[in-house]
Amino acid sequence: MSNIQTARRLLLAGLIAFPVLFLPAGSRSEAAIAVQSKTDALSKALRAERNGWIYIHLEGSPDEVGYQHGYLLAREIDEALRVFKKYAPRTTKREWQFYRDSAHELFWKKIGDEYQKEIEGIARGAFARGVKIDADDVLAMNAWIELSSYYVPSLNARLADPEVHQSPPPSCSAFIATGSWTRNGDIVIGHNNWIDYVIGRRWNIIIDLKPASGHRILMDSFPGFIHSGDDFYISDAGLMITETTITQFKGFDTEGLPEFYRIRKATQYSSSIDDWLKVMMDHPNGGYANDWLIGDRKTGEIARLENGLKNNIVERTKDGYYVGANFPVHEKTTREETTFDPTNGANSANARHRRWDDLMKLNKGKIDIGLAKKFQADHYDVVRKREAGSGNTLCGHVDLDELGLHEWDWENFYPGGTVNAKVADSQLAERMSLWASMGHPCGIDFKLEAFLKSHPEYGWQREIADDMPSGPWTQFSTATRKLGEEIGTQRGIQTNTTDYEDAARRRRDAGYPKPPPIPAPQRPPQ
Ligand SMILES: [Zn+2]
Repeated sequence: MSNIQTARRLLLAGLIAFPVLFLPAGSRSEAAIAVQSKTDALSKALRAERNGWIYIHLEGSPDEVGYQHGYLLAREIDEALRVFKKYAPRTTKREWQFYRDSAHELFWKKIGDEYQKEIEGIARGAFARGVKIDADDVLAMNAWIELSSYYVPSLNARLADPEVHQSPPPSCSAFIATGSWTRNGDIVIGHNNWIDYVIGRRWNIIIDLKPASGHRILMDSFPGFIHSGDDFYISDAGLMITETTITQFKGFDTEGLPEFYRIRKATQYSSSIDDWLKVMMDHPNGGYANDWLIGDRKTGEIARLENGLKNNIVERTKDGYYVGANFPVHEKTTREETTFDPTNGANSANARHRRWDDLMKLNKGKIDIGLAKKFQADHYDVVRKREAGSGNTLCGHVDLDELGLHEWDWENFYPGGTVNAKVADSQLAERMSLWASMGHPCGIDFKLEAFLKSHPEYGWQREIADDMPSGPWTQFSTATRKLGEEIGTQRGIQTNTTDYEDAARRRRDAGYPKPPPIPAPQRPPQ
């Protein structure tokens, strides 16, 4: 079915579903007005698919952008919710109802009217298409990382249970560079997201958000999220933002402001790095504590914010680079807020830190979009001194790593690692554009059944997991034309033909040797 047909079908479904579900009372004319208003809301929105990504354009009031989001991603939200309901109890021994209750109690009042309305809109939009969901589900999804990896560990009962994940999920390899470090002196930024494949294969949403107030945002995201979640943002204020998570961070302040709220508000309402820092540093709750990388294309300045609970440390420069690989940057943060060992050269965060520094120095003055894409697919393991994806490489493949990543409670060959990658520079940011690649940016596909054959210990994931193919680099921009009848024409998406290659070809061109095969099934000794 073409996208135009899909869009028309969606619009038609909206016309039919809305009055039945939401207008039990009231006169015909009131119903007609309400239907008209919901139809108008959808007429400003757009959904299109390309190369493993789902691109949505959202526009209007908080209620409208929420409704559009819920409506256009109803199927994906439904599936994500199903996964969370199985995954969260398995990894944290807390049922989904705990997440709903905790999110409501800890966060609902703190996120303010605008984001409450947007979250309610998401739930209503998805519900209109048959998804059994309410605002607490959507809120809990948005707060999932903060609750599962920070709030739950802060509860005494969990700390006494060795079976439960104790650490934040790994999340990412990233860099930002400017001045004499880049080819034209502009800012270049890149990020790849590391997480369990069972979750990360759904981190394939690109949102072009045109809110009624504040700045327009282009970001990658997850179904139902009002933020990016793995965090890659371009705003029309000229800000370019990403992060990597601080490994083995501890502490959670139930009175603090949630991370997903602070980052969304900071990105939507800031015109400068200073504005943005103020919001991010305003009473953090310690949840999803990250080292943020931010650049302002208007000034060429970049900054790094170590956004802890007790420590909020900022570095800034107009000529330099910052990298992120899940290591805490500052000794004070490391000592006071983590159990991270900065002296262990063999751990993934420290290994990737070294690789990033090497790549930056090796490419000083040459860093551009082409190199940024290559960095995302880098497979040099500085510990094993070999070219093969592992838990120590910038493009992460813990499913191929016999040692696993124990700092993150990922056992040997855990099915997790890089799930997507994004890059941009100042010129792209000025055009509200970014490049994104779904799956491993090196081109290696994750095949579930082949993997489970070798590693049946992860069989519990079968009912919620699937393959994670890797797609080509694809350019996404904000939709520029008047929409409406043009819904589905894929405005805002371009694929550069020279980059539109199959994954194997890209791998060859990038000069990487053939990736190691997935190990053969290991039979127990007879
Ligand atoms: Zn890779």
